Amino acid sequence: MKTIEHWINGTATTAGSTRTAPVYDPAAGRPQAEVLLAEPSDVDTAVAAAGKAFETWGDSSLSQRTKVMFAFRELLVRHEDELAGIISSEHGKVLDDARGEIVRGREIVEYACGIADALKGGFSDQVSRDVDVHSFRQPLGVVAGITPFNFPIMVPLWMHPIAIATGNTFVLKPSERVPSASRLVAELYAEAGLPDGVFNVVNGDKVAVDAILDHPGIAAVSFVGSTPIAKYVHERATATGKRVQALGGAKNHAVVLPDADLEYAANHLTAAAFGSAGQRCMAISIGVAVGSAGDELVEILKRKATEIKVGPGHEDGNDMGPVVTQAARERVIGSVALGAEQGATVVVDGRELRVDGHPEGFFVGPSLLDNVTPEMSAYREEIFGPVLGIVRVSTVDEAIALINANPYGNGTAIFTGGGEAARKFQREVKVGMIGVNVPIPVPMSYYSFGGWKDSLIGDSPIHGPEGVRFYTRAKVVTTRWPHSAAGFNFPTSS
Ligand code: NAD
Repeated sequence: MKTIEHWINGTATTAGSTRTAPVYDPAAGRPQAEVLLAEPSDVDTAVAAAGKAFETWGDSSLSQRTKVMFAFRELLVRHEDELAGIISSEHGKVLDDARGEIVRGREIVEYACGIADALKGGFSDQVSRDVDVHSFRQPLGVVAGITPFNFPIMVPLWMHPIAIATGNTFVLKPSERVPSASRLVAELYAEAGLPDGVFNVVNGDKVAVDAILDHPGIAAVSFVGSTPIAKYVHERATATGKRVQALGGAKNHAVVLPDADLEYAANHLTAAAFGSAGQRCMAISIGVAVGSAGDELVEILKRKATEIKVGPGHEDGNDMGPVVTQAARERVIGSVALGAEQGATVVVDGRELRVDGHPEGFFVGPSLLDNVTPEMSAYREEIFGPVLGIVRVSTVDEAIALINANPYGNGTAIFTGGGEAARKFQREVKVGMIGVNVPIPVPMSYYSFGGWKDSLIGDSPIHGPEGVRFYTRAKVVTTRWPHSAAGFNFPTSS
């Protein structure tokens, strides 16, 4: 069986690792490879390589960095099919969906190609007699990224292109369930001309994560994953003086008003709830039907959910692949059962779905639960699978209050034909990313991505201008030419 190694200092290596974990093909339900799990000494090796590389990369010119980014972007385009195949085989998502995450990730590289503009400082002429002030930003040093399984390439791409373009060197610890895409990315960076040691991949589990969080040679940690681990990472890494951005889980609501085009809303809700088998941090897991919209909306959703074709991600014509592990499958099935037990109406039941020819695959069909209430587990927990719950409310105000009382605040959407409700919604809802008739409002690369409340621990959203700020530190320089006599009073601008 193939062993997936680390990538340190420009080369594949086992370093000192001996432990391994299986990497599954979720459609077959069987391991297809094994991945090495790093020890703290392997993290040390990667950080040492990154530290050495920073001595020159941190001083490299903006044009050298952007030249690498332009070349890297071209290689991502050229290897799109190969990358999509890797993602689909380890994650399970359908190929077109895998291509979608590559494209959205590549947009961050495109932003990084324009880093020279994003890094421009300020200049104030003659703030006092003969005195000018200017500001500029410098890289932090060695920074690390810890990423989840559900976007094997896009989420790491939220981090490393910006970190590297701003002059840092990077150690990535990808999800041990989907390690291969990052390995190929490392090779593409090398081919693009990135010097050895600037981008390193250390595969591993909690042992590697803890070694990163405690490492004195790492200046900042970017984390994306579930909320409990985001809180843990934030607490432990800030305790050792690191800058931390930690994005957590979600329970995203889409509100549907009676004046919406219900066919359109249901179409988008279906795709946003069941695409990627519901394993997206921006998936819609709760539909909030307002007033008279409810019955018709549920009827259309039922029709659409039963039309979804479930099968292996690499086979043409499938809309939805398996979930990532057997444990995830059992969690989804258990959540639907508990929902029914607690009084939800099971309108579409995906628990018994079997896919011909793939008896061991981690498949589970789409489920639609109606009459979900905020007390139910199906409402409170992040199921992270193909389950859409419908909560019925009477007014927009009630919908907004429901969303604002939820501990998560990643994404939300409103479907309406009227601007008044949409404007009220976007102003009053306590959520970071909002869609108006757009179900998955993932910001473009030149904005930043981040939720509120338990969906973002700390205060730093990711990529875009916030990413540039996160990976750099500012200096403000006050200059006087020529020198004039010093005064004993505190300097003022006169
Ligand atoms: P996860 O939290 O289990 O794992 C994320 C990373 O943390 C992995 O690299 C994993 O190896 C590591 N990890 C796991 N357990 C750990 C522990 N006990 N100690 C130290 N490190 C640990 O998340 P996942 O299951 O891979 O991904 C799904 C979750 O990620 C969902 O909750 C989803 O909402 C969230 N997510 C959020 C966003 C966002 O932008 N907010 C984006 C994608 C995914």
